[in-house]
Amino acid sequence: MRFSNLLIPTSKETPNEATLQSHIYLLRAGFIQSVGSGLYNYLPLGKMVLDNISRVVKEELDSAGAQEVSLGFVTPASLWRESGRFEKYGKELLRFKDRKDNDFVLGPTHEEMMVNLVKQSVKSYKQLPLNLYQINLKFRDEIRPRFGLMRGREFLMKDGYSFHIDEEDMQREFYLMQETYSNIFTRLGLDFRIVDADSGAIGGSGSKEFMVLAQSGEDTIVVCESCEYGANIEAAVCRYIPPQNEKKEPFKKVYTPNATTIEEVSAFLDVDPVLCMKVVAKRALYDESSAVVMFVIRGNDTLQEIKACNSVDANELVDLSEEELEESGLIAGYMGPLKAPEAIRVVIDKRFQDATGLVCGANENEHHYIGIDISMLENVFFEDIVAVKEGDKCVCCGGNLYYTKGIEVGHIFQLGTRYSDPLKAEFLDENGKSKPFVMGTYGIGVSRLIAAIIEQNHDDKGCIWTKESAPFDIEVIISNIKDEMQYETGIKIYEQLKSKGFKVLLDDRKERFGFKMKDYELIGIPRAVIIGQKLEEGNVELIDRDDLVSKTLPLDIFIEEI
Ligand code: ATP
Ligand code: MG
Repeated sequence: MRFSNLLIPTSKETPNEATLQSHIYLLRAGFIQSVGSGLYNYLPLGKMVLDNISRVVKEELDSAGAQEVSLGFVTPASLWRESGRFEKYGKELLRFKDRKDNDFVLGPTHEEMMVNLVKQSVKSYKQLPLNLYQINLKFRDEIRPRFGLMRGREFLMKDGYSFHIDEEDMQREFYLMQETYSNIFTRLGLDFRIVDADSGAIGGSGSKEFMVLAQSGEDTIVVCESCEYGANIEAAVCRYIPPQNEKKEPFKKVYTPNATTIEEVSAFLDVDPVLCMKVVAKRALYDESSAVVMFVIRGNDTLQEIKACNSVDANELVDLSEEELEESGLIAGYMGPLKAPEAIRVVIDKRFQDATGLVCGANENEHHYIGIDISMLENVFFEDIVAVKEGDKCVCCGGNLYYTKGIEVGHIFQLGTRYSDPLKAEFLDENGKSKPFVMGTYGIGVSRLIAAIIEQNHDDKGCIWTKESAPFDIEVIISNIKDEMQYETGIKIYEQLKSKGFKVLLDDRKERFGFKMKDYELIGIPRAVIIGQKLEEGNVELIDRDDLVSKTLPLDIFIEEI
């Protein structure tokens, strides 16, 4: 294609709203255009990249036996009511009414719709297994849409759902999808890591995320120095030894004036912070009720909110105001799980199981208990509720764990019957008995991938597209189109490359060479051939966008080299 005919509105200005390099370059190089918060138009170059990614996704999924379908974007609320998500999904779900007052939602994900599709058309075990997917629009009214395509409100997702006769067959498919996703991200040229993940609001168990490694990633992931272990911080686990106090002090209440923080208590009583019980009080929100919960962790740990929220099966955890604390009978700085007000639920981090000689607040102003053994506590639950720290030991091999940042580009879940049960989606098994479908669900952020590729592949001049994602394979730049020889040679090379099956962009614009080079660097096509002054000696220049190193080649061997 000719640059002169294409709509590629490049710009030198850094757009105000953009902070991430991928967002800045995608706007400046004319791939996308902002329409409103979290809403974008794809211009010709952007659409080409989107199609390339979709093609790779489709090829790999089709060859793994999945089938493409396309479901409605506008989905009836009745399905969401049946699954219980119409109320539960929160403000991200865009609900609206039609002229007849029927409720609808714009699909943020399509479990309900897909279960409904299969329920109507699959009756027997003989039709299973089945893996159906689509590459389609999603809408989530994100609280903070940002970073361009990274976190949009309207975005393109590949969402797939598989249906099985039992858990075992679903797990087989889950691992097949893990492999298929790895092939997809490898073909797209990404450096990624598969990590254990939290299952979130979608429910079910057994879930993994595909993380593109990038400092700008919104997710913190915990990885092992020595083995393959990796997990989202929301799900990461580690080895630990229950803390024991060498000093065998008897249980008693002590006066601890002005010691409200862990540092103060630990210094005042001369105990290691590991032995101090830190209490984080929160209100857990449920569908129709709420409850105050005391989360108890070691003094040197941090509460992991997602784990904590899961530990009490809540929809969400929120902070308590000072008044609420008081109403619940709690005293900031002096809270403790021993003799806590009865209405309060206590969840203790499991690192405390079997611990001895602990210190905690006495639920009384300026007092703490010392010499507590965990066995003294009644009506408490042990759960893993803290964030793994750098330097903690790997559960698999004992190696050191460290943090890195990732962009979530894919997520695979073992769903089980979380949706087939409430939606009564059943098949007849070999013995003619009705059973709910056992399901898996698999997502890829197709439009987010555009941003992720550039986050991982750019320099201070612009984008550097990977081989399979690039809008063109090569750009032919005619340095000066008024020079007849350069122009004719450029056109000839352009035609020749096209006939060999390359996707070629011909920069035939009446612009200065420097200007065209700047655009080339900004747009980031993997290679360019420059037809310029060196043509007088029969040479052209071949440039790699990766390192911008240029090679001078005689015209006749250039095509061969390519
Ligand atoms: P996140 O934690 O980033 O909000 P999620 O866990 O809510 O994502 P899933 O429900 O697992 O997302 O959706 C599948 C995939 O869709 C994600 O792995 C991600 O790549 C992509 N995705 C999710 N939300 C967005 C968004 N707002 N904009 C672009 N892509 C998104
Ligand atoms: Mg996810």
